[in-house]
Amino acid sequence: MATESPHVPEGELDDILEYCNNLRHAPVPADDALPEGFSGTFGHFPVYFPEEIAHSAGLLPVAILGGGNKLELKHADAHMGSFICAICRSTTEMGLNGALANLSGFVTHPICDAAKHLAGIWARNFPEQPSEILYLPQNVNTPGAVRYIAAEYQRLRAEMEKRAERAADDESLRASIRTYNRNRRLLRELYAIRRDEPWKLSCTESYLLLRARTRISCEEHNVLLERAIAGIRARRRQAQDKPRVVFVGGFCEQPPLEMLEAIDDNCYVVDDDLLIGMRWFTEDVPEAGDPVWALAESYVERSAASPVQHDERKSKEGYLMAMIHAAKADAAIVTAAKFCEPGLDEQVAWSKHLDEVGVQYLVLEFEEKMTSFEQMAMQLETFAESLLFATA
Ligand code: SF4
Repeated sequence: MATESPHVPEGELDDILEYCNNLRHAPVPADDALPEGFSGTFGHFPVYFPEEIAHSAGLLPVAILGGGNKLELKHADAHMGSFICAICRSTTEMGLNGALANLSGFVTHPICDAAKHLAGIWARNFPEQPSEILYLPQNVNTPGAVRYIAAEYQRLRAEMEKRAERAADDESLRASIRTYNRNRRLLRELYAIRRDEPWKLSCTESYLLLRARTRISCEEHNVLLERAIAGIRARRRQAQDKPRVVFVGGFCEQPPLEMLEAIDDNCYVVDDDLLIGMRWFTEDVPEAGDPVWALAESYVERSAASPVQHDERKSKEGYLMAMIHAAKADAAIVTAAKFCEPGLDEQVAWSKHLDEVGVQYLVLEFEEKMTSFEQMAMQLETFAESLLFATA
């Protein structure tokens, strides 16, 4: 249910969105510029990372999302093959050019070979910045999955405590879960607006609002989202004649902002999987009981889906169709990052299934470093026109 919102003038909403856009390029904060209560930063690679554990130890979780299309690669090419996806290459470049020097540690996940090997690249090139792999299960359907994840989280918690030189006891972890639950509720509200009144909030704007949490504390993000949602609800905008689509393929490497803008120009994106790891839980995490168990159990029982997690309850085709139906979408934009094996795998399965069930879709490939969008814009325009023609 929507919360009661204070009045926020349109100008303030514009300022919030500009602030979020600037945060995309903001450096990792230095230790002396951290919000109160934090003593360091901890970097994590997509897709999902239990930020609450770092947060409760006083380490600001910083999602590392590659270098976008403004970063020039000067060093990374010497460290990896040309067939590696752009986010891995630009993340390595940012390590080598010092842009991530303020991190007190870096964690990656075995979501694919490229991501898994980042930890080794880190260990070899930046020994002063401890790196590790958080082994989340790829198959969550085994009976021991929750127990295994809880043990892995306990290991992570001990690591965080060592780095922060501070205890992250159950009480502080429960407090972090409460803060993130508030964030989850606000993000669900943001996405509900997209679904119910998409003319009030574009996909690009919603993405910027979500992505802001990669550089600020969850507490600050909660305040930002509350103000933004109030401003969005107060917007007076007319609905336009645009098809409703869902966007998939943005779970790891991030599509350039210009690509999302081109989609917004032609369609209402009523749901997406952009940064799905940052809103992984579909419900609140239980705030009572063992907090580590609550996080582990939520990972298995109250979670979204992505191409890098295998859960027989959420087939590739099944979760896309559930998204399309829940968002009352007319069609899908099925994307994958170049050289992304999990993403391309999913794209093939999705396209085949959409053909079978007769749902219209557009296949797009992207790279975070793309700078030319004219051709894509034309494809999108044609796609949107054909959808409108079909439903006229
Ligand atoms: S974009 Fe794909 S290939 Fe690259 S790190 Fe992410 S999941 Fe792996």
